[in-house]
Amino acid sequence: MSHIFHRNPRQQLPTAVGGEGIYLIDSTGRRYLDASGGAAVSCLGHGHPRIIKAIQQQAQTLAYAHTSFFTTEVAEALANCLIEHAPAGLDQAYFVSGGSEAVEAALKLARQFFVETGEPDRQYFIARRQSYHGNTLGALAIGGNAWRREPFLPILVPGHHVSPCYPYRDQREDESAEQYAQRLADELEARIVELGAGKVAAFVAETVVGATAGALAPVGGYLQKIRAVCDKYGVLLILDEVMSGMGRTGYLYACEEDGVSPDILCIAKGLGAGYQPIGAMLASRRIYDAIVGGSGFFQHGHTYIGHAIACAAALEVQQVIADDHLLDNVRARGEQLRASLRARFADHPHVGDIRGRGLFVGVELVADRHSKEPFAPSRRLHARIKQLAMQRGLLCYPMGGTVDGQRGDHVLLAPPFICTEADIELIVALLGDAIDAAIAES
Ligand code: PMP
Repeated sequence: MSHIFHRNPRQQLPTAVGGEGIYLIDSTGRRYLDASGGAAVSCLGHGHPRIIKAIQQQAQTLAYAHTSFFTTEVAEALANCLIEHAPAGLDQAYFVSGGSEAVEAALKLARQFFVETGEPDRQYFIARRQSYHGNTLGALAIGGNAWRREPFLPILVPGHHVSPCYPYRDQREDESAEQYAQRLADELEARIVELGAGKVAAFVAETVVGATAGALAPVGGYLQKIRAVCDKYGVLLILDEVMSGMGRTGYLYACEEDGVSPDILCIAKGLGAGYQPIGAMLASRRIYDAIVGGSGFFQHGHTYIGHAIACAAALEVQQVIADDHLLDNVRARGEQLRASLRARFADHPHVGDIRGRGLFVGVELVADRHSKEPFAPSRRLHARIKQLAMQRGLLCYPMGGTVDGQRGDHVLLAPPFICTEADIELIVALLGDAIDAAIAES
């Protein structure tokens, strides 16, 4: 009898006992090819000797020093490393222990920025309907995942939502990508005006949507147009790259590919690659200066921010990515993965869309490929795919239609940056088998 408060106590989970490269191993000796890194976390696979060594060394030197007493060399070095490669304007790193904490910090910083700069009326946050920003109350309040929010709605601050950038479902046939992006930017502008131009603090978006939509990348020009709308109304742009950042898309920061710099950027998951729990919020100099020149104090903080062992792990992860030229591999293997999936599912009646960037790839499943009608949510196809994939020794990250019950099932793949050509082919073969088996069960 387990005394762990499992998230889903009715589910029988295998016990993970080890990890080797791209494989996780359970207590029966079964090996699972980890093609999702949990939820896009384990970007260097498991048991990486350099990360283990860095953690051991840091533990021997200094495990922890509270940030209200000390800074540490390793936290300073990690901040320098992140900022050196960050999108233009981002200048300060604030460390936390995970993705939701990074988003909470971003929301509070945005709010405090306006309090400090004499615009205390700016209190609203706008996000997108197809989005997930975390499970803590602030992050949940702005997220657009109806299913996760529903039981907690009475205790959430009101979130305001606009349409996601979802070309497969929402771009009209008579509309170019540019026109579609403009329509979405106009919608954001209208919502800002409706709420009151001086009342909106920030627009929050995942650069590439992860859990709620399966590696949904924006069309070209979308983020630039969104940036311009934010600038026009003095609204801060917060990009959530908790899943899509830190090399996952083939760029260290996903928004680099779009040529857009946010005011605040949230990262986590791949930052510590699962070796340590760590996230960060990167903020612009302008925001930092406003706090320093104002009250001089960011009214936020957690016990474990800037944890030395977590910072050491994250720093070594960044160094391995650079030394081993892993972003090149992410781009090449990502192209291969999408091409291979497209070949495998070319005439598949139930695969509607294959999308993503780098090794952040989504497969959307539909009951009818022509009408794009999703499978009934009650069928829980995504859950069955996950089970059947595990039975075949594959870990992938399927999710169900969660927005208004009408967006359907998808599978998210986020293989480690170290995977080979052969690994990719194996992932496609195993996933193809699992999807076919799940659909055949109807
Ligand atoms: N933002 C995004 C985009 C995420 O994908 C997640 C986690 N799936 C979070 C925030 C929350 O991160 P965490 O689970 O580490 O709190």
